[in-house]
Amino acid sequence: MEFKVIGVVSSPFTEKFGIPRQSGLCPSSWGTLVFEKEFSHPDVIRGLDGFSHLWLSFLFHENKNKDIRFVTRPPRLGGNERMGLWATRSPYRINPLGLSVVELENVEMINGRVVIHFKNHDLLNGTPIIDIKPYSVESDCIPHASCGWLERALPSGVIAVKWREPELKPANLRLLSLVEEMILLDPRPRYVKEETNNHFAMRVDSLDFHFIVEDSIATIVEVTK
Ligand code: SAM
Repeated sequence: MEFKVIGVVSSPFTEKFGIPRQSGLCPSSWGTLVFEKEFSHPDVIRGLDGFSHLWLSFLFHENKNKDIRFVTRPPRLGGNERMGLWATRSPYRINPLGLSVVELENVEMINGRVVIHFKNHDLLNGTPIIDIKPYSVESDCIPHASCGWLERALPSGVIAVKWREPELKPANLRLLSLVEEMILLDPRPRYVKEETNNHFAMRVDSLDFHFIVEDSIATIVEVTK
């Protein structure tokens, strides 16, 4: 069985550090999916614009570690407990396929290519998309679903984000909100949290945002290109 890449995502998440762990957590994020030429016929998107949300199936194309482990240690449990692979949404899977529900902004044709603009996602820049399905409230929304170990996931270790000087704030307000949303989710790996070094740099779009965390307050101290 062979899968065809339908298109590739452009996203402000240009490195893995700081990307939200799921879609739906950074409403200010933006993304664009540009279809391959062979799938850019206007017929394929007929009726799509009536949907507010889409499922995107994608390849974890930037997985560096190719080892398959049947158990994984979810960061949201502090990284100490092991859970079976199928009880997690770890990127390191037998088949490296991801699934995210995203908010559709608009669909257009640009230079003969279908282009889908979306937001509120968790996809690295360059992610190959292999399938798209409309989100259906009727079949996909299960309000009484139980969520196993996720129900005791730890809260974020960051409760507020500050900018050391107002001049550090990007003029692009969407980027500013995105950076704050990402840091509020606490992107720090568990093992670093326990070390004394509390200085982190997170690349978003084309800027590096340097921040420190003290007493659960993150302060952005420097922004570099
Ligand atoms: N929502 C999807 C799912 O449940 O299948 C992805 C969940 S996975 C925990 C999300 C993480 O995958 C992100 O925080 C990012 O670090 C990583 N990621 C996103 N896109 C990727 C890609 N193309 N290749 C490798 N890792 C990626």
